[in-house]
Amino acid sequence: MAYLVFARKYRPGQFDGVIGQAHITRTLANAVSSGRLAHAILFSGPRGTGKTTVARILAKCVNCRNGPTTTPCDQCRSCREITAGNSVDVFEIDGASNNKVENVRELRENAKYMPAQTPYKIYIIDEVHMLSDAAFNALLKILEEPPAHVLFFFATTEPNKIPITILSRCQRHDFRRVEIDAIIDHMEGICSQENLEIDRKALGLIAREADGSIRDALSLMDQIVTCSGGEITEEQITDILGIIDRQIIFDAADALFGRDMEKLLSICGLLYRQGRHLMRFYAELIEHFRNLLVVKMGGSGKALTGVPAHEKQIMEKQVEDISEPWLNQILNTLFEDEWKIRQSVSPRHAMEMTFFKLFQIRPAMSIDELIEKIDNLRQGIAPEQPEQKADAEPQKAEASTAAVEPVETAETEAPASEQDPAQQTPQPVPEDDGPASKMPEPAAPLSNQETWEALKSRIAEKSPALGACLSEGELKKITDDSIEIEILAAGNANLLNRKKSIASLESICGEFFGKPMRVGIDIKEKENSPRRQKKEARHLEEEALNHPLVDAAVKTFNGKIVDIKILPTGGKTK
Ligand SMILES: [Zn+2]
Repeated sequence: MAYLVFARKYRPGQFDGVIGQAHITRTLANAVSSGRLAHAILFSGPRGTGKTTVARILAKCVNCRNGPTTTPCDQCRSCREITAGNSVDVFEIDGASNNKVENVRELRENAKYMPAQTPYKIYIIDEVHMLSDAAFNALLKILEEPPAHVLFFFATTEPNKIPITILSRCQRHDFRRVEIDAIIDHMEGICSQENLEIDRKALGLIAREADGSIRDALSLMDQIVTCSGGEITEEQITDILGIIDRQIIFDAADALFGRDMEKLLSICGLLYRQGRHLMRFYAELIEHFRNLLVVKMGGSGKALTGVPAHEKQIMEKQVEDISEPWLNQILNTLFEDEWKIRQSVSPRHAMEMTFFKLFQIRPAMSIDELIEKIDNLRQGIAPEQPEQKADAEPQKAEASTAAVEPVETAETEAPASEQDPAQQTPQPVPEDDGPASKMPEPAAPLSNQETWEALKSRIAEKSPALGACLSEGELKKITDDSIEIEILAAGNANLLNRKKSIASLESICGEFFGKPMRVGIDIKEKENSPRRQKKEARHLEEEALNHPLVDAAVKTFNGKIVDIKILPTGGKTK
């Protein structure tokens, strides 16, 4: 038996077997069942996404013995002949090799005659954008007055090359690149039918390479299956296809983040020895950092279509502790240097120079982190380096030195708190001295509001930034082991929802209440402030219009009021 390539063997014969183009198959099925199929339909989109496959299914739908139907039987003569490509009424024409005006004239002559066995004569013209101008003109004549028994299905990867006169007579459907996970699913299904052992990660490599094309994915799979026997590994796939292992891209990014220059250089060396395309590695690295930035900025789904689901999770983990500005800096540098590497006589060394440059960049901090850092400096607290306690103690008296040297946190040592520079800032609730509250207080129980005020002071004292964010906060709920705070979305309110902030709040609360407390922050959107501003503006305008001076000015100059501007300071009008 002749070997049938996967793309042909598993070509779908029904609309519901078409992958990733539901927006088109649904519309076409509706058109068929309601009898409103257009006489000329254009399928455009990237190669290998199912354009001619859909055209063939559509031909079966209208020419099936049970037709018109949205689920052709695949049994009748017409269905079988269309599948085999030898129907006497369905003509598949390659536009690239039949692009001359004579070809289209011939088609026009032929189209005059009624179909031999089925309701419609159907012309499927692939790569229709390849027709010559004269051929398009000839085609236009028949599109202007198509015989009732003729249907045209055109397919193209470049719809912009088709004259507008033709386009305007076609119903157009745009095929999309198929999402990577859908391609992987499809290949997985075929693997199980073919008894092939290729795991999802390995299939991911193939799908990535296929760049949204089902046909390309299946052709690559053919190539791999032919080249290797038995179980197929990621390594075999990268070797056969000459592509870069995904793990290498992740490792390279890790090396950059971890400032591990040796590791990064050894990756470059390895790729070089394996004869991999270094520019390709560089391009994939750029793409990876672009995706990492998208992940860091909270993007997902549509912005990350080329990334399979299992990689998204690894990416999230990879950027967890990396700041957005730093990612931005890396991406920028990679982009800026691309042309230098491309033009260099020694791309490997040019690439290494870019990496050296990246290692010299100091990781940029986000505004939130900066504020936090300044806070810590102001307090003379650097919680991450507790080992320098002994040196730091005497310097506490001079605020400026204390600000530079890392100092042990106040709460771990009781007597230190008396000299702590934190004392320099006003302390509204003096009785709440750090260590004292570790003991349960025997005094009369405070009301919730009083507790909240005291807690706020404590927070402001421990972390001015968090304190400032919370100053307008309201206590929403307090239970035995949790506290919920509500705050308007303004200024730096978002700072509160960072993991680190919650952790410090919980630690302050735990100390304050003498037991572990969970902290919940509920950021409320501002409701009435823009409305209030508008109302205020209207009020000011009215005031200005009625002002006697304005009235006098208008009369004196015999003018009229064209516009009223509200100035930002004090709301003066003119
Ligand atoms: Zn049929």
